[in-house]
Amino acid sequence: MTVEVRNRIGGQLVEAADGARFERRNPADRRQVVSTAPESTAEDVAAAVDAAMDATTAWRRSTPTRRAEVLGAAARILDRRVGELAAEMVAEEGKPLADATNEASRTPRNLDLYAGEAYRLTGATFPSDDTPLVYSTLDPVGVVGVITPWNFPLNMASRKIGPALAAGNTVVFKPSPMTPLMGDRLAEAFAEAGLPDGVLNVVHGVGAGAMLVADERVAAITFTGSTATGRAIHANIGLGRRVQLELGGKNPIVVLADADLDTAAAVVARSSFSLSGQACTGAGRILVDESVHDALVERIVRLAGAHVLGAGDRPEVTQGPLVDERAVQSMVEATDQAVRDGATLCCGGRPATAGDLAAGNFFPPTVLTDVRPGTPLATREIFGPVIGIERVSGLDEALASANGVEYGLSAAICTRDLAAAQRFAAEIQAGMVRVNRPTVGAAFNAPFGGTKQSGTGLHREQLGPTVMDFYTQLRTVWMGT
Ligand code: NAD
Repeated sequence: MTVEVRNRIGGQLVEAADGARFERRNPADRRQVVSTAPESTAEDVAAAVDAAMDATTAWRRSTPTRRAEVLGAAARILDRRVGELAAEMVAEEGKPLADATNEASRTPRNLDLYAGEAYRLTGATFPSDDTPLVYSTLDPVGVVGVITPWNFPLNMASRKIGPALAAGNTVVFKPSPMTPLMGDRLAEAFAEAGLPDGVLNVVHGVGAGAMLVADERVAAITFTGSTATGRAIHANIGLGRRVQLELGGKNPIVVLADADLDTAAAVVARSSFSLSGQACTGAGRILVDESVHDALVERIVRLAGAHVLGAGDRPEVTQGPLVDERAVQSMVEATDQAVRDGATLCCGGRPATAGDLAAGNFFPPTVLTDVRPGTPLATREIFGPVIGIERVSGLDEALASANGVEYGLSAAICTRDLAAAQRFAAEIQAGMVRVNRPTVGAAFNAPFGGTKQSGTGLHREQLGPTVMDFYTQLRTVWMGT
């Protein structure tokens, strides 16, 4: 059944001004239209910002208890709906049911965490020579624009909307056009939780993100998505407005000669093939010491071949579809280009089209060896289950090669040598480092963010103890008598 999603502006469910809609098809079966949503115009986006501006004063004056109660109530509603949300996520986004259930269950945890932040917006007092009281406060910044990708449609949005609302900001939320239903479900929970009209508005569409960025009344933009879109946003944000960009990655795993190879192969398979390689922290580059190269490749290829492809609602399936047909085509192109650049194809490399798979966007885990540093497979984000393995000799060469890309999001090393692990953790150019652990995953209370072209902005971290910095404005007051 197709769900017809509408924009949410000032508490009303509305169509685009010109009535235009777009559709989202099930990536595992393109014959099914899962959702349709308004293709918002500039007029719609301006109306959403108007509504958010109108709601600003009352929400910034609301008590911490009121904000915490609304976030908590939304969390309880989402908790009760984990099963339905996960099933809809499988149909709209494509990830296997276990992964969708995991995401739907973690989303309310984010809101619970940020509900508490409403009470922790503390300032400081400063000893002063000329006035008895100097103190600072943390104020809301105003209207926050939230722009999200499709690959974690609930979790990513909740970890932006949660802190924005807890700090007393109002929000205009622009979900990915791949996952309008998930975006709407999150906003629906807030509406049912009693969030006042206009505090959280939602506009859908392909062009709405750029329109939101262009509106000077939006004081802060928090964006997660590709580096290319992040660059476009960065170029359009002028002085006096905030921007937080969480972008793409080309995340390396280094495997040293002393690594436990079964652990290393499992780390690679989980990092590279889970969620069909469609995680920003997924590993696309494997840098292996030449002494263990062949033994590791054999293990990785075996694990790659063990995946069961199919629609995510089937229990035996371990790898769902890619997000759309364009993504499948880009996997083909990446594989062919790598082979032209001298790489050897070990497995995969062509779309999976047997039986029911022909109706969906399926591409199997693909492993290429003899990948040369500097070639596209070694340097560009692929965002799918295609990985390149490079031979290195020791930690120095591995570090130099791993750092030779424009990205710096997540990285891992597999070794039993503590000194090597510590040096890697200190010298790899990445916001997040793992030792004998997959590059993917996040702890909802620990900092999450990248460096270089993977993340910019003064307050780049999402999650962790500094998360409220982006959503608050520091004010210092000299109190005379
Ligand atoms: P995308 O950049 O294509 O789109 C992200 C969002 O931006 C969507 O809502 C889209 O409609 C909107 N958008 C598109 N053009 C815009 C513009 N000019 N101005 C404003 N908004 C615009 O990314 P995607 O395909 O949805 O997601 C995949 C990408 O996201 C990958 O590169 C992945 O690495 C990255 N990602 C990063 C993180 C992280 O935390 N660093 C997490 C998840 C995904």
